[in-house]
This record gives sequence, C-alpha cells and structure tokens, in this order.
Amino acid sequence: MLETIRSIRLLDIVDILIVSYLIYRTLLLIRGTRAVQMVLGIGSILLLYFISAYFELQTLRVLLKTFLGSLLVVIVILFQAEIRRGLTRMGMPRLFRTNPTMENDLEEVVRAASLLARRHLGALIVLERENGLRDFLEGGFRLDARVQAELLLAIFHTSSPMHDGGVIINKRRIHSSGCLLPLSQNPNIDKRYGTRHRAALGLSEETDAVIIVVSEETQTISLARNGRITPFKDEAQLLATLKALFLPHKKNKRRPKKLNPGGADAQQDT
Ligand code: ATP
Ligand code: MG
Repeated sequence: MLETIRSIRLLDIVDILIVSYLIYRTLLLIRGTRAVQMVLGIGSILLLYFISAYFELQTLRVLLKTFLGSLLVVIVILFQAEIRRGLTRMGMPRLFRTNPTMENDLEEVVRAASLLARRHLGALIVLERENGLRDFLEGGFRLDARVQAELLLAIFHTSSPMHDGGVIINKRRIHSSGCLLPLSQNPNIDKRYGTRHRAALGLSEETDAVIIVVSEETQTISLARNGRITPFKDEAQLLATLKALFLPHKKNKRRPKKLNPGGADAQQDT
C-alpha cells in the first residue's frame, strides 16, 4: 500500500485533477439536457456488457462488444450539439462571452422607458434594492421573465390587460406587472403630478426601491427614490444615474472618488 502511494508522482496528481475537472465540466454542460438520459442509457449498456462477460453469456457479450467498439462514433453523433457548444465555450475567453448582466438590464429598462415616452405610453418600473417588495407583489401578474425592453413595451401598451399599475423587477427578473403601489400622502407634491407619479413617490418613501416613471401626458421620464422625484432630460443621464446606484463597484474601479455629475444625487428635486 505504502509502496503504491510512494510511486505516485506529482504529475499523476495533476493528471487526475485535469481528468476530474474535465468530467466535472462535461457533467455541468449536459446537466438538465437530454444528454443525461443518453449517458444513463450508455451506462446501462456498459453494465449489461460486464454482466454478460461475468456470466459468460457469449452471444450477448459479442453483440454488446461490437456496439461498444463503435461507441466513440455513436457518442460523437449523439452529442454533436453538446460537443460543439462545449468546444465553442472553451475557445472563447470569459471576457467575450455574452453573459447578460445587471448592466444589460439597466440598459434595457432605459431603452424601454425612452421608447415608451416617445410613444406616449405611461409606465411605472420599480427596481428592487435591499428592501423586499413582497407586500406590493400581491394582486399583480406574476411573470418571472428576463428584463427586455420589448417585453416592457408590450406590458405597458394600452391594449395590454396588465398595463395598469407598476412592474417590479427583482433579482434581475421582471417579477410581476400590474402591481399596486402606495400613493404618497405628501401634501407638498407638485399639483401637476397625478396618481402614477404619486405612487412612485409613495413607494420611494416607504422603501429603498428606485422607481422609473414615464408620463404618458408629458413624455417625461422621472426617477423616484428616497421620497424625491427627479425628471431626466436624456437617456444617457438616466442610465448613468442607474449605473451609479446599481453598479457602484464598477464605477468606483474606474473613477475612485469623483461623483457622476449627472447622477441622481446631483439632481434638483422638483
Ligand atoms: P401621466 O403623467 O402618465 O398622466 P400621472 O401622474 O398624471 O401620470 P395618472 O394620469 O393618474 O398619473 O395615471 C394613472 C395611471 O397610473 C393608472 O392608469 C395606473 O396605471 C397608474 N397608477 C395609478 N395609481 C397607481 C398605484 N397606486 N399603483 C400603481 N400604479 C398606479
Ligand atoms: Mg395624468
């Protein structure tokens, strides 16, 4: 036993680690796909082969041996798609992989807001932060969808049965639409603001959520947070503010101290 352990070289350990990693990656790649069933099928044939060899069932053994002899070709044909996908991923540096991120989501939200405004469609888009918004989800339509501008457009189109109320985005998903938000009771609110803007303000008074309001009347896009509402002049400014709020690490890495002049903190409240 000790002899065997002593004879293991460092390279053998590296060898085992590489093979384990490859098996692990392969399992990750096929997890949840129909390839899993195929692997199980091949496993059962192998098992049957060993049983036939052990009990000397000659005919079955020869038959399975012939099949297993061409197993490599069978695997390549069956797993064409998975192999292609795996090799493409291996050859692509992580940096260039298309991986939808929070940054993408924010861009989609801003794109949606600007398209909605241009089309005179009103909207309320809530971005959850630390405080859970479960209380406001009840009564809404559960969607659990990817954050996409086109979907937001479809939701807020007046012909949509779920265009009334707000959309709540949490954990990088459009959780629900048609959510009823608490109206602000602040008596000093500008009189031109109706219930949509009051609802945005109300939620921002009660929670740390960030709410984007698109006015169907004035086509203005505003952002409510911490009980204040700020209209935005252009998309770039809104996006910069959202990025500063939701991706602070990224921003800090690039410009350690300077605050974004277009950020919500620099805005005048109305
Ligand atoms: P706009 O500038 O778009 O006209 P507004 O601030 O004047 O907005 P209203 O015209 O009253 O507000 O907007 C009405 C819409 O606001 C409703 O159709 C509904 O979609 C939304 N809304 C009103 N109250 C709430 C609420 N409590 N929670 C969520 N959405 C609400
Ligand atoms: Mg109105």
